[in-house]
Amino acid sequence: MVSPLLEVTAIPAFDDNYIWVIHDGRNAVMVDPGDAAPVLAWLSERSLKLTAILLTHHHGDHTGGVMALVDAHPGVVVIGHAEDAHRLPALGTAVKDGDSLQVPGLDLTLEVLTTPGHTVGHICYFGSGLLFCGDTLFSAGCGRMFEGTPLQFQSSLARLAALPVETQVFAAHEYTLGNIAFAAALTPDEAPLSDALHAIRQRRAAGHITLPSTIGWERRHNPFLRCDESVIAQAVNKTGASAPDVFAAVRRAKDGFRAA
Ligand SMILES: [Zn+2]
Repeated sequence: MVSPLLEVTAIPAFDDNYIWVIHDGRNAVMVDPGDAAPVLAWLSERSLKLTAILLTHHHGDHTGGVMALVDAHPGVVVIGHAEDAHRLPALGTAVKDGDSLQVPGLDLTLEVLTTPGHTVGHICYFGSGLLFCGDTLFSAGCGRMFEGTPLQFQSSLARLAALPVETQVFAAHEYTLGNIAFAAALTPDEAPLSDALHAIRQRRAAGHITLPSTIGWERRHNPFLRCDESVIAQAVNKTGASAPDVFAAVRRAKDGFRAA
């Protein structure tokens, strides 16, 4: 489990992004700082030193704050995927699949998992029961397929689904309500999904965030992690099809879904 000295907290940014902070009360590490201003304010209020930035992929709402943070905190190490070195700002440590990353400034080791699909260079960081999964896995959903193929994306999600059930899922966006509304509409006879929709609607109405989730919860509620289940295949008229084909159909259905 994560060291009792480490805390993980969300800094909200833009409309629905979360910049996750891992800190030990002295040093702090930011995951996907799309905007520098809220991060700088958060750090100075607590007198914490920024020691590293972990990037999952190149999109601007995940990297837009990097240059200003590097300017304000000299010595910060920016970490990201070697294959995306050409499109990640100020990259200092390039990592690849399977690397064991000693996170600068913290007593924390994270494993690098490549998860192509949302983008081809997307990576996730996993260790000590924590998963930082950017725009690959959302609670009850997944990112849009901008660059990868259904085979890549579904394999990436299956890889995350195979992590221990108690793994905490730190996704980069607050999309849970829209996602679970889609999941509940996809298989309307599944009571656990309508129960979850009700619970998440209440949490959002009360102003609470819905993350972190867990891998165990996602395996039961996230249709994109259930592409090998006949109930999901049937829901998208793909009975007997391969998991990547079912994934492609579920992704298309979600792209066209508008909650009532
Ligand atoms: Zn993205």
